[in-house]
Amino acid sequence: MSSKQVYIRLLTFVRPYWKVLLTSVLMLTILAATEPLFPAMMKPLLDEGFANNDSRIIKWVPLFVIGLFLLRGILTFTSSYASGWVANRIVTDLRALMFEKLTMLPTTYFDHHSSGSLTSKIAYDVNNVTGAATQALTTIVRDTLSLAALLGWLFWLNWKLTIITLILVPFIIVITRYFNKRLRLLSSNSQLSMSKLTHLIEEASSGHKIIKLFTSHKYEQYRFRHANEGQRGIAIRATIAASALVPLVQILSSVAIAIIIWMALNQEEGGTVTAGGFVSYLTAMLMLLPPLKRLTGITATIQRGLAAAESVFEMLDETIETIYDTEDVELNGRINFNNITFIYPQHTDKVIDNFTLELKCKETVALVGSSGSGKTTITNLLARFYEPSAGKITIDKQSINEIPLTTLRQNISMVSQDVRIVHDTIAANVAYADPNADISKIKDALIAAHAMKFVEKLPEGIETITGQNGVRLSGGQRQRIAIARAFYKNAPILILDEATSALDTESEAHIQTAIEDLMSNRTTLVIAHRLSTIEKADKIIVMKSGKIEETGSHTELLQLDGLYKHYYELQFKDR
Ligand code: ADP
Ligand code: MG
Repeated sequence: MSSKQVYIRLLTFVRPYWKVLLTSVLMLTILAATEPLFPAMMKPLLDEGFANNDSRIIKWVPLFVIGLFLLRGILTFTSSYASGWVANRIVTDLRALMFEKLTMLPTTYFDHHSSGSLTSKIAYDVNNVTGAATQALTTIVRDTLSLAALLGWLFWLNWKLTIITLILVPFIIVITRYFNKRLRLLSSNSQLSMSKLTHLIEEASSGHKIIKLFTSHKYEQYRFRHANEGQRGIAIRATIAASALVPLVQILSSVAIAIIIWMALNQEEGGTVTAGGFVSYLTAMLMLLPPLKRLTGITATIQRGLAAAESVFEMLDETIETIYDTEDVELNGRINFNNITFIYPQHTDKVIDNFTLELKCKETVALVGSSGSGKTTITNLLARFYEPSAGKITIDKQSINEIPLTTLRQNISMVSQDVRIVHDTIAANVAYADPNADISKIKDALIAAHAMKFVEKLPEGIETITGQNGVRLSGGQRQRIAIARAFYKNAPILILDEATSALDTESEAHIQTAIEDLMSNRTTLVIAHRLSTIEKADKIIVMKSGKIEETGSHTELLQLDGLYKHYYELQFKDR
């Protein structure tokens, strides 16, 4: 996307609010037009009021000052309120769109974008967009008009003097440009070094147990001190640059002031300059500086805004997962994997190699194999988190690519090792995202998952807030909440991926019946590292490097005297 395209697209987000923005621009125009009034007032005040003791001036000037600043105050407030309102609307709109996108992006996107970068994109980067969208416009309108109005007054007062003093303007622009550039560089360095700091803080707080066990607090403190000092170095250089700019501009202005004084006192050169005209001239000239400074910095603000907008649009242009529908269709649950081969995007080796398997309706099939053999990948393909590189998966003889994604996923319950608990009540976790959550159904699900006993003991029962990612629950408790979720969802297809791995043998035995209840009446794909839990499966598949090594029932596989028997004996020895 070229800058122009980005800008035009950005303006489409401004369009709904153009009336408010136009109001703001109109106010700014009036504000700019009143800019020379204050210096203009100086002339009669000094020439007539002080020198001639004109009573009209003495009476009206104080009132005029209050009136002028009242008017300017109202205009300043309403115009910044209006443009701020538009800016916040745009940020809110963009954020909403980005989050909407986030919830519908394919799994592969998340494999390549860290949650940290997504957070900063949606929460912070988007703020910079307003620099190009509204800030630039208001600055350009207000400041160029102010400059024009002030210059007009200066020329009217004394055009010869004005031409001479204007020679200094390019110098001021060059200096301001240089310092702005330097400040920009330092601020991007500062952002980098700041992210290093937050990273260390994040690691130290979430990994506090590692620090304690390795007594690595000295080491971590050293790393932090180093990063902290680096940050200070950048900050101090920025302070130097910022502090140097003001006196430099002032010194340059002093040259202009000196010229004006010299010329005013040498009446032949400057023409006739009264005391009032002189003060008025000086005031207007000093008032030129702030808008001049803002205008020289505006390109940087626009560029930062465009860069932010580009990164926002990049995310908005990502393709989302295909079709979602809202229809509830119940599948029966006969699943066929036909010659499935799969390579993870941007990888080269086959993780699944020519995998063929049939799960009849309500049958339980177990996947066994060493870690990394591709078991979880099979479940990922069934839920269409990824698309197979070759082959076809069907449910009820229909390719899963032809089943709307919502239908497909509504028909699958998954309980895995990594249980996601949302920061809400236990009840909301069980009936996750169900708009018509039913309390008695929730309770039944908790009872069926053997979770009711511990939930009842919590301070507020099923209304207890779980804490972020369920920190206040034990691993086994989290797992049982996940099982209750599956009971509540009541889908015909069930995937259990190391569902009981967080449990000790005793708790596992305890909820084995709950899991068996859950499995009955559903087509189940179960992965478990403890073979005792899958002995009753209708069929056991032994996988090795993405290929099916052995297939059969528990007794058949033991007779086969192969890999399965080897695993079984290893575990049997343990017991
Ligand atoms: P299992 O569940 O049997 O332990 P997985 O199916 O999780 O094994 O992983 C199989 C292989 O695929 C492993 O070699 C793993 O490194 C690789 N893998 C898993 N997930 C990804 C991913 N998101 N991107 C790339 N490679 C992956
Ligand atoms: Mg796995």
